[in-house]
Amino acid sequence: MDAMHVSTGSALQSDGRMFSVTVTAMGAGQQRRGERTLQVPFQRLQALMQTIALQGGRITAVTPAPVAPSGPAAATESAPSPPGKAAAKPKASPSKPAAVSPSHADVPVNLYKPKDPFVGTVTENYSLLAEGAIGRVNHITFDLSGGDPLLHYVEGQSIGIIPDGEDANGKPHKLRLYSIASTRHGDDLAGNTVSLCVRQLQYEKDGETINGVCSTFLCDIAPGAKVKITGPVGKEMLLPDDEDANVIMLATGTGIAPMRTYLRRMFEPAERQKNGWQFKGKAWLFMGAPTTANLLYDDDFERYQAEFPDNFRYTKAISREQQNAKGGRMYIQDRVSENADEIFTWIENPKTHVYMCGLRGMEPGIDEAMTAAAAAKGLDWSELRPQLKKAERWHVETY
Ligand SMILES: Cc1cc2nc3c(=O)[nH]c(=O)nc-3n(C[C@H](O)[C@H](O)[C@H](O)COP(=O)(O)OP(=O)(O)OC[C@H]3O[C@@H](n4cnc5c(N)ncnc54)[C@H](O)[C@@H]3O)c2cc1C
Repeated sequence: MDAMHVSTGSALQSDGRMFSVTVTAMGAGQQRRGERTLQVPFQRLQALMQTIALQGGRITAVTPAPVAPSGPAAATESAPSPPGKAAAKPKASPSKPAAVSPSHADVPVNLYKPKDPFVGTVTENYSLLAEGAIGRVNHITFDLSGGDPLLHYVEGQSIGIIPDGEDANGKPHKLRLYSIASTRHGDDLAGNTVSLCVRQLQYEKDGETINGVCSTFLCDIAPGAKVKITGPVGKEMLLPDDEDANVIMLATGTGIAPMRTYLRRMFEPAERQKNGWQFKGKAWLFMGAPTTANLLYDDDFERYQAEFPDNFRYTKAISREQQNAKGGRMYIQDRVSENADEIFTWIENPKTHVYMCGLRGMEPGIDEAMTAAAAAKGLDWSELRPQLKKAERWHVETY
């Protein structure tokens, strides 16, 4: 809403005054419309402005209407109700102001399929955890050179790994998906590697420790080993094209993988130089981990925050070390609740995208926090979320 002209007189007045709201780029379905003017009473002004923003409209002016319209002759369009209000649901779908990048059609998909996978070579495999951390999480890089075609990918996609060996029925193991943790240029920027961030699955069953097949295969793998790789797949988590976009990231554990690709693309100096995409928007990472030692890529994110304080914010929820307002463990949804007002102010901007990634169990907590935050603004999250999803501004990949 930059360069918007807003004039409402005294905000304390709550009489029957009418206001004219001039808005562009809002229309039913995918249809973009030119400028139009809506008239609303003072009481509905704020809700209307929120609705317009959420639907991707751009308000260019708000001025007192000279006379209150009366009767059917009033030559104005009726204003849409805010999402979540029972009366007259907005007909317009949220527009897609910040198209994802590159266009969906150009995103590589399934260059290598399970029947004929690419065989990559492990170049490195190291622990991402500090002393005292819980579990095992490794950063693993594969050399993709020699592929015909080259297994190329973009930020936000995943690849499949087919672990060596056979299952209990003597059949080859099925592939497991892993979010790519490197930008399209790879960690070394040479354009021929892909990196993953893998947590070894371990659980107890009948007094026995069970190790996940593929995650253990990957965490144990040595440089030089050959690995069957498929993909890339996924278009859910692509970044917007727009250098002015705002990006809110909600990650737990290895859900940080796609976020690392976004943040490297946005703030890693050599990557910025290489990609020619000069991010100018704002990014906000919420990261959930059980202990400080379990934070992943923390030094890099601290560095980005120090170097780009106007563009990057990093908020951590460390459940076993920090307390929430109720004295319980601090989970990512508690951080969302604490910052709910600001998060919603961001979301009201049609250039804001929200990305969520991690274990599926994180979804109800985030949903609950967003429901409460929306309600505080007079909005209904169960209606608003599908609208954001439809506008391709709400991106979820949980597993
Ligand atoms: C889109 C996508 C992206 C992903 N990205 C990542 C990533 O970036 N990093 C990452 O580490 N993982 C990621 N995963 C998860 C990954 O695909 C595997 O599911 C995970 O590594 C476990 O595979 P595994 O072969 O080790 O376990 P498996 O040997 O396949 O064992 C898994 C099975 O064990 C059982 N099981 C699991 N936990 C328990 C329990 N507590 N009690 C009893 N039974 C249990 C369940 O039946 C489960 O299906 C992603 C998944 C998807 C779908």
